[in-house]
Amino acid sequence: MPLLRDVFIKLSENQVLNDATKKMGLKFGANKVVGGISVDDTIERIKDLNSQGMSVSFDNLGEFVTRRSDAIHEKDIILNMINAIGENGVDASASIKLSQIGLNIDYDFCIENITEIMDAAKKHNMFVNIDMENYASYEDTVRVIDHLMERYDNIGTVLQSYLFDAKNDVYKYKDRRIRLVKGAYKEAPAVALQEKEDIDKAFELLIRLHLTKGDGFTSIATHDHNIIEKSIEFIKENDIPNDRFEFQMLFGFRKELQKELVERGYNVCIYIPFGNDWYAYFMRRLAERPQNINLIVKSVTKD
Ligand code: FAD
Repeated sequence: MPLLRDVFIKLSENQVLNDATKKMGLKFGANKVVGGISVDDTIERIKDLNSQGMSVSFDNLGEFVTRRSDAIHEKDIILNMINAIGENGVDASASIKLSQIGLNIDYDFCIENITEIMDAAKKHNMFVNIDMENYASYEDTVRVIDHLMERYDNIGTVLQSYLFDAKNDVYKYKDRRIRLVKGAYKEAPAVALQEKEDIDKAFELLIRLHLTKGDGFTSIATHDHNIIEKSIEFIKENDIPNDRFEFQMLFGFRKELQKELVERGYNVCIYIPFGNDWYAYFMRRLAERPQNINLIVKSVTKD
């Protein structure tokens, strides 16, 4: 389905559609994979997931912000969400994209914004994960993370198994809470593995290393049942206790598998995106797995 994938990627990049859909509310079945537009709606979804035995990490949708006023606006939404989580006593952490709060504008400005977020999260005893974006922002992202790690203990990040550097970073962050993923962006052969099989193998290796080489906490973020089962086998063989790892999946994907893992006694955390900038995220999920188009078909035939 490479053609369909390209169509969805193109649609995700269309500025007119991105702007138009911001005013529309969740359409085309996007409510199946996006938690809500408002903080209040999303809190209700978080409560529902918590009641099913799952923790949550929220993500304020939108990235690659280029205006200071927009970055400040996005930071304020994140602060509102953190406060609402604290007030409602729900089990949720924050996932932050630094490009949303000024990384592409000015390093110090981004540090100011993330520091405000970290302080608010610390007050509510909340963990903050810095998402890893494209390789072009890798160095600056790591610089911010290392700065924050010197000052806060409630901070972690993401390592992408397709990057050649990932193994070194697993050792560097072996005692930290780290989310491991395959990697979502299109990167050059000079910096990243290109073949799915190689990326999968590297992913399995990173999981095993992070689970065993330090005192960190490993978030295994994947919908790949083969890798999940292989990880469980490894975890059992090595007597790794449940409080050292969790499985993470995106909201709305593989719900049966999420439920099954909870029933088997494993910690499951759901990454729940929210906000009016949902369109590009939704199109990228369709590009990743065009079979998800049935979400649209179902929503259209229901209306
Ligand atoms: P894939 O390689 O997409 O799929 C492997 C196999 O799993 C498929 O062949 C199929 O058999 C099965 N499968 C997968 N999805 C489904 C489905 N919906 N239904 C049925 N079977 C399915 N990437 C980043 O670059 N930076 C980040 O910060 C980041 N954060 C993430 C956070 C979370 C919680 C998750 C889950 C992913 C995140 N990603 C991030 C995305 C990640 O890098 C991958 O692009 C994405 O998860 C797709 O890879 P996969 O491991 O899920 O499985």
